[in-house]
Amino acid sequence: MTVYFNATVHTMTTPSARAEAFVVREGAFAFVGSSADALAYAGPDAERVDLGGKTLVPGFCDSHLHLYMYGAGLLRTADVMGVASLGELFAKLADHAARYDGPFLLARGFDQSKLAEGRFPTREELDALSPTRPLLLTRICGHAMVVNSAALALVTDAERRAGDPETGLYTETAITPFYQLVPPLTEAEGEEAVLHAAQVALASGITSVGTLLDTPEQLGAYARLHRRGQLPIRVTGMPPQASCDTLHAHGIGTTFGDSWLKLGGAKFFSDGSLGAYTALMAEPYDATGECGTRIYDPEVLKQRCAELQKKGFQIVIHAIGDQAVRESLDAIEFALGDEDNAFHRHRIEHTSILPPDLQARMAQKKVIAAIQPQFVTSDTWTGERIGAERARHAYPFAAMRAAGIPLALGSDCPVEKLDAFLCLHAAVNRHPWSPEGGLTVDEALYDYTVGSHYSLHNDHQLGRIAPGYLADFVALSAPPSPENLLTLKAEQVYVAGQKVG
Ligand SMILES: [Zn+2]
Repeated sequence: MTVYFNATVHTMTTPSARAEAFVVREGAFAFVGSSADALAYAGPDAERVDLGGKTLVPGFCDSHLHLYMYGAGLLRTADVMGVASLGELFAKLADHAARYDGPFLLARGFDQSKLAEGRFPTREELDALSPTRPLLLTRICGHAMVVNSAALALVTDAERRAGDPETGLYTETAITPFYQLVPPLTEAEGEEAVLHAAQVALASGITSVGTLLDTPEQLGAYARLHRRGQLPIRVTGMPPQASCDTLHAHGIGTTFGDSWLKLGGAKFFSDGSLGAYTALMAEPYDATGECGTRIYDPEVLKQRCAELQKKGFQIVIHAIGDQAVRESLDAIEFALGDEDNAFHRHRIEHTSILPPDLQARMAQKKVIAAIQPQFVTSDTWTGERIGAERARHAYPFAAMRAAGIPLALGSDCPVEKLDAFLCLHAAVNRHPWSPEGGLTVDEALYDYTVGSHYSLHNDHQLGRIAPGYLADFVALSAPPSPENLLTLKAEQVYVAGQKVG
């Protein structure tokens, strides 16, 4: 038994609730209250940790990211996020090609609108860098890719025609055949990838994640680590919706698992991204004259959501454009009928463009919005993409919260950096292109703990510092305020009562 006292403890029973101390026994909180009461509860034989007035919060929970994919990237993909010109991009690619001797060259993270040239690189330019090894260069959002001739030579004619073989630019589902060429990680590499990524998470106090299971081998890597007691953080894995019938046939649905590793909701995509002009909007983009990409016929989406709800799955739908959110809500409302979403916890991911009528509908049914605040600080071009009028309804976090929409916070890493304080900073302070609509610090902390765990069916045991809850907590370097979020550090990180950082 250990008593931690003399602290400011954000218990998260409510956003503003505070205590001074707590007692941890066998990996869980046994008592929470004043320092005097906690010391008395623990008795003279307990280990005592004087926190010297530090601020403690529950471990953060990133409710939507691609942990394995991120870890795999750390192992073998060149990170070209933040490059400012094609020259800088090509230099990074050449450097990667010189260092890495694997069969495929992979790179990810550029944003053509942030390059001095303001355009995508071309197949020819990539050919000059890598004439023989296939090179796949993915945009920051993951919805667009430029490939070289060596990669084009490996796909079928039909697959080549699904994009533009001349420029090498492919978007949305036309990308998939190229990804499928890349050999998966070995089992050992997969575990290494998870461990790498988990260390990055823990460095800023993220002790739980809701990760997408983008490819079939991912769950196995988590499961093997868990079986050996080596999983450093708690993982809820969200399978692609197409896998869910097989899982169901074996009796497995959302919440199957334990507090370390469990199954989350069935993941759908209903559209693409604003960056690639593929987010589905009700009205066309000025630049393309088109509305974006609709992935499911609305009637098919409704039936499929109802079917998977019946099979015991939470529904998790990627929807960025307003029309994609509308059709996702249609499907979720259809599936729910008069059932309560507090039981199913269906979520919509991103909800980037959310006008008031959609806010009201989400609030009415308590449909969870899984938001990524760092999109606000990254996607500073949103106004140019969709016009100022529609951009007023981009990422309206404060209005969503005030309306009563349950919020869950995340990074969508590797789309955004895996860093709790960047996430909190963006949620509170936003960015000059869209300054209104930030959360308070207390609200952001609450939604990043209780809110995120609620969205993963874990809030009964995680996200609070309360008796019976699992003892995942973080000591911050200073009391959090809007001014210091970017410089805050996670000084001590505990998972299940064990110090891990
Ligand atoms: Zn994602």
